[in-house]
Formats: sequence, structure tokens, C-alpha cells
Amino acid sequence: MARVNIPTFKLNNGREIPALGYGTWLGMDESESSDKSPDKPFEFGFSTAGIPKMVEALSYAIDVGYRHIDTAHLYRVEPEVGQVINKKIQEGVVKREELFVTTKVWHHFHREADVEVSVRGSLRRLNLDYIDLVLMHWPMSISQEGVDEKIDYLETWRGFESVLSKGLVRSIGVSNFNLEQMDRLLKNCKVPPVTNQIEINLNLGQKELVDFCQANKVLITAYSPFGTMVPSRSAPNSPEPKLNNPTMVAIAKKYGKTVTQVTLRYLYQRGIVSIPKTVTNSRVVENASIFDFNLDDDDVQTLAKFDNGFRTVRPIFWQDYENYPFDKVPEKLEIPESLRIWKNGFNSDID
Ligand code: NDP
Repeated sequence: MARVNIPTFKLNNGREIPALGYGTWLGMDESESSDKSPDKPFEFGFSTAGIPKMVEALSYAIDVGYRHIDTAHLYRVEPEVGQVINKKIQEGVVKREELFVTTKVWHHFHREADVEVSVRGSLRRLNLDYIDLVLMHWPMSISQEGVDEKIDYLETWRGFESVLSKGLVRSIGVSNFNLEQMDRLLKNCKVPPVTNQIEINLNLGQKELVDFCQANKVLITAYSPFGTMVPSRSAPNSPEPKLNNPTMVAIAKKYGKTVTQVTLRYLYQRGIVSIPKTVTNSRVVENASIFDFNLDDDDVQTLAKFDNGFRTVRPIFWQDYENYPFDKVPEKLEIPESLRIWKNGFNSDID
């Protein structure tokens, strides 16, 4: 069996995090709505069809040497992720302390005391005694009815500091925080976040935010590291580079690597953790086989030129909510119901 050897970065609390992890967000599918009114012909539901494939690919990933797994309450896959982890521990493939498991607290749980409710729910669904890293998924707080709860993320952060001091989690961090929000959090916290997990890929370099976080010893984790490069995400009008971009193909050829490997290596050389998602075993190995070559300065500069600020993840349905972290656009969209309403209601299980 193939093996991958993934190095670690050091967090600001002295712990280590593998520089590449396995992402478990399976996305959402458009399906016909039960509400047949003309303004609501479709709704977005969680893609459950991919779960068995993800279970297989995640098992394979642990077999070949992945030790870092990124999940979230939102993704509705914590039970399956936990089953794979516990199976691999029972089989003796890996010890719990060798794994780095991240999960995230959703918008509904931003009151200080609710952070612990959310984390205990994740522990139960994952069937684990502790979580390595728990992140505030977004800085906004939104009830399942879609009401803007306007809870200050500093209050939420106190809940994070509390679950850390209780030993439920080993590290705490944030996700989707912009520069001003990071700055304010760092100036007003007892325990600084170990990471800010944000979208970074060749189109979205986020240089200013990355520099700021790195200067303040906050590691950056890149989600959607391929942006719109991969066919599942690229639309005819999405920007270059696509997988067949001649510049990318030439650089990849020079190192005997693939375009996706060059993309992930570039992030690693910027000191950034990446968490690519794939349910394809060959890509599990491909994505982690990036630690045996080095992009030279000329190629790094060429890759940096693709940065044009294009966001793949643009949840404009949240843009009028307090603390929405990105630039607003003139469009209006309703929040998809499946991003608001948990199957069994507020504060309860998703299973
Ligand atoms: P990615 O950039 O990881 O892209 C995933 C897509 O790329 C899938 O369609 C996958 O296909 C394809 N792919 C993967 N590897 C290759 C390869 N080597 N060659 C060609 N195609 C490939 O996007 P995600 O949005 O999934 O981001 C990764 C992870 O980041 C998520 O799974 C999640 O854990 C996290 N995330 C966090 C967010 C946050 O708000 N904090 C937001 C979004 C993501 P296939 O699976 O069919 O192989």
C-alpha cells in the first residue's frame, strides 16, 4: 500500500498540527422543493450520497498515513467520521494521540454557555473523549429561524476558553475571521486562537490577512485549497488557473508532479496548513505527496500572480448579518433552510 509522510507545523500553544488534513465537507445538492411556489422551485439539501464514499476514502487516508481530519457539526458527518476513527484505533492502525481531529461550532451556539453544549454534542457524535481543535465556524450568530442574534464573538470566545480549561478540547481557534475581527479578538482574549481557517487558493491569496495572522503567531489553515480549479467547482466564467492551465501544467511537469500537487505545495511553502477534500483514493495519496519537492522562487512568484481576490465560498445570504466577514455585493439571497434548521431542532442531535 502507498504511504504518505506528512510533516507538522507548531501551534502557538506548543502542540503540533499535521500540515495537511482530510476535509469532510460533502457539499450541498440542489433538489426540488416541497414548497411549489414559483419563487422557491429548488432547495439545497445536504449531500448524503457521498457519505459511504467518504467513509471509505477517510479509512484509506488513515491507513496510508493521514493523521489530521477536519469536520464540523454543520457537515452532518461527525457520527461517520467518529466511527472511522474508532475503527482504526481498534484495528491498531493508529493511536488516538497520533490523530488531530478538528470540529466546529455552528451559528446557533454562540452564547457563552452554548459553546459547551455544542462541543459536548460533537464529542458524543464523534464518540471521542476529547477533540484536538474546535473552531468558531463563522463570526456571526444566527438562530435557526434566521434571526440575527448579534452575539459578540468575544462572548462566544469566552465559551471556547471555558471548554479548553475543562479539558474537552486541546486547542481552540476560529474560522472565517477577517483582519479587523482577528485583531479585536487578539486584543481581548485570554487564550489566543491557534488558527484562523479561511479560504485560500491560487485565486484568493489573502496576503494581508495571512501576514497579519502569521505575525501574531496564528497559523493559517486553508479551506477550499483548489478554489474553482477542479471541474466540480469550475464554471465557464470562473477565473484561471484551471487544471489544464498551460502555465500550471508546465510548472507541474518541471517537478514531475500534478497541478493540484503544485497548488498544495505552494500553500505549504507559505506556511499554511491545507485540508483538501476528496472521496477518491488515488487523490488521497496524490494530495499528500507534496513533501518531497520544493518550488523555486521564480515559480512561487508566477503562482502568486494568479491571486485576483476571487472567492469560491461566498455565502451572500448572510451578508446582512452582524459580523459578516466579507465584502457585500448587491445581490439578495435567502438562507437555504438546511443551513438554518437542524433536523431535531436547536441544541439537539443531528443523527
Ligand atoms: P477542495 O478545494 O478541497 O475541493 C474539493 C473538490 O476537489 C472535490 O470535488 C474533489 O473531488 C476535488 N479534488 C480533490 N483532490 C483532487 C485532485 N487531486 N485532482 C482533482 N480533483 C481533486 O474544496 P472544499 O470546499 O471541500 O474544502 C476542503 C475542506 O475545507 C472541506 O472538506 C472542509 O473540511 C473545509 N471547509 C471549511 C469551510 C469553513 O467555513 N471553515 C468552508 C469550506 C470548506 P472528489 O472528492 O470527487 O475526488
